[in-house]
Amino acid sequence: MSNLRILVATKRVVDYAVKIRVNAAGSAVETANVKHSMNPFDEIGTEQAIQIKEALVKAKTGTAEVIVVSCGPAKSQETLRTALAMGADRAIHVESDEELQPLAVAKLLKAIVEKEKPDMVILGKQAIDDDSNQTGQMLAGLLNWPQATFASKVELGDKLMTVTREVDGGVETVKAPLPAILTTDLRLNVPRYASLPNIMKAKKKPLAKFTVADLGVDIKPRLQTLKIAEPPKRQGGKLVESVDDLVDKLKNEAKVL
Ligand code: AMP
Repeated sequence: MSNLRILVATKRVVDYAVKIRVNAAGSAVETANVKHSMNPFDEIGTEQAIQIKEALVKAKTGTAEVIVVSCGPAKSQETLRTALAMGADRAIHVESDEELQPLAVAKLLKAIVEKEKPDMVILGKQAIDDDSNQTGQMLAGLLNWPQATFASKVELGDKLMTVTREVDGGVETVKAPLPAILTTDLRLNVPRYASLPNIMKAKKKPLAKFTVADLGVDIKPRLQTLKIAEPPKRQGGKLVESVDDLVDKLKNEAKVL
């Protein structure tokens, strides 16, 4: 095994614990004054890249450089610093205040891949804000690279990855030559917390910045959101007196029997 370069895509999203609200205009999710964090699947991606590096170093068979990249507004740098504090080596911020749909992100990541020439790009299976589950697949298509999505286990061989994937009703194992795209599923690992000394060290790690214009990418949205609405409010439950009463209500009120 030689030295690897791993690029990890990390998105800043509304924190998974925040109760999502629709904005007053009904046009988007409210993001003002709301806690943001790294997309949970990207924490798993960052952890996986660091674990690959640590395993190579421990086995004395090589090492890996872990580069994290985020596209979005200036605050995306907070997400990048978190990834650096977890153990990534350096970061790249592609700054944009425009809406970035998955195709735009995939094109920006392709431009970064062409600069950095990584052996592997790790993305989350989906961003928990848009739930698109598209960016990794689109990047693989644009680069014409093999992809293994929804990974729950990864083993690296010589210029090859063996990936166990979560599929309906079971798991599937696939092999792909590197360079390749990997997208993470929940069971791949449990991401580490950054320690305070590592948070301090992360402030000094390199963070390169690019604009969309630097990369010459067309980020024009291809999809238009027509409306965003809250799900209908749940109705309160009812206590029934007997099984007969229950059957009657299921038949005549709920009309499900
Ligand atoms: P999506 O296709 O939007 O569900 O996102 C899937 C994955 O693509 C995320 O888990 C990230 O790894 C990556 N990704 C999406 N948007 C961005 C972004 N703005 N910056 C960096 N990575 C992103």
